[in-house]
Amino acid sequence: MGLLSAFFRRDPLLTHYKIGRRLGKGTFATVKEATEKTGDKKKWAVKIIDKRVLAPEDEQALTKEVEIMKQLAELQHPNIVFLKEVCQSEGTFYIVQELCAGGELFDRIVEKEKYNEKDARVAMKQIVSAVDACHDLRIVHRDLKPENLLYQAKTGEHRDVIKLADFGLANMLKADEALATACGTPGYVAPEVIAQVGYDKEVDIWSLGVIMYILLCGFPPFYSENNPQLFRMIQRCQYTFTRPYWDQVSDEAKDLIRSMLVVDPKKRATCKQILEDPWMTVDEPQKKPELEGFQKNMKIYNAKRKFKAGVMALAAISAMQRGAAATKAANKLKERVSKGDVEEVVQDAAAPAPAAAEG
Ligand code: ADP
Ligand code: MG
Repeated sequence: MGLLSAFFRRDPLLTHYKIGRRLGKGTFATVKEATEKTGDKKKWAVKIIDKRVLAPEDEQALTKEVEIMKQLAELQHPNIVFLKEVCQSEGTFYIVQELCAGGELFDRIVEKEKYNEKDARVAMKQIVSAVDACHDLRIVHRDLKPENLLYQAKTGEHRDVIKLADFGLANMLKADEALATACGTPGYVAPEVIAQVGYDKEVDIWSLGVIMYILLCGFPPFYSENNPQLFRMIQRCQYTFTRPYWDQVSDEAKDLIRSMLVVDPKKRATCKQILEDPWMTVDEPQKKPELEGFQKNMKIYNAKRKFKAGVMALAAISAMQRGAAATKAANKLKERVSKGDVEEVVQDAAAPAPAAAEG
């Protein structure tokens, strides 16, 4: 634990903050609300990592995550989760970050009564702007997916601000590890990650393309219960703008998605190009027709996604176990299953696993 111990300030978190309710749980960490004991009693989110579960490689990943968050914190980008401080006690590392109390992006969207292309644009603009800032610093996020896109607040003036969170995977892992870790939601992974031919910031653009597609119809472009088949579909860029759902979406939106979901990473659009795209910059009237069928599709996909995150990840990992990294990730997941974490995810899905919202 040498490397990290030097990195994290030895200052018990509990003297300065009161720990509150649990906000979420990831691979290594539990995230809880933390309230400053003094001053204006400001609330933060603290990522809590048990030192005992960290292998030396994980330690490195965590150090990297903090380094990246520190670099990004200097930018004070409105759409990137701000890092306040890191500290440690006897058995635990703490990463104190800006609290995003508004919940995950897709959870908010399924609750909306009205939803149209403009809502999708407002979300995409913020997400791409955050990723652009990362890319300017040569930081590749690598794990862009709905769980890592959080709303700043439930109400008030920051209600619609989206923040990019979780830099744990950024720049650290080799291709096979990324693939193994992406198992919970393999639908967002770029073809070059599957092919294991090296990767760069273009992997983020692919994931952004997948996210934009879902934001416009409520179901994913690449979908199969069978992972090898899903990976083949991704590598062949096999997707369609399924009727009738896509008939109501503008050609500009489709063109932009086409420029992002390109197999050759060199030919994929860059964040800057996306931000300057006609679909992004169009100034359209407030009232736009609602996307019919979107809510229904999205509800099904979102519940299914949460269900799968818990259950399917295991099958996915064992299907692609290649080398130590994947095995390690699989074991970690098995451990979570045996501890009961995964069951919790299953219960989160409101209904029993719904039928596929396949395109
Ligand atoms: P991991 O690196 O283990 O995946 P994450 O950083 O993704 O951990 O955090 C796990 C979960 O905790 C997230 O999916 C989210 O639901 C919640 N979470 C993370 N950061 C915050 C935050 N700043 N504010 C509110 N909730 C958060
Ligand atoms: Mg995460």
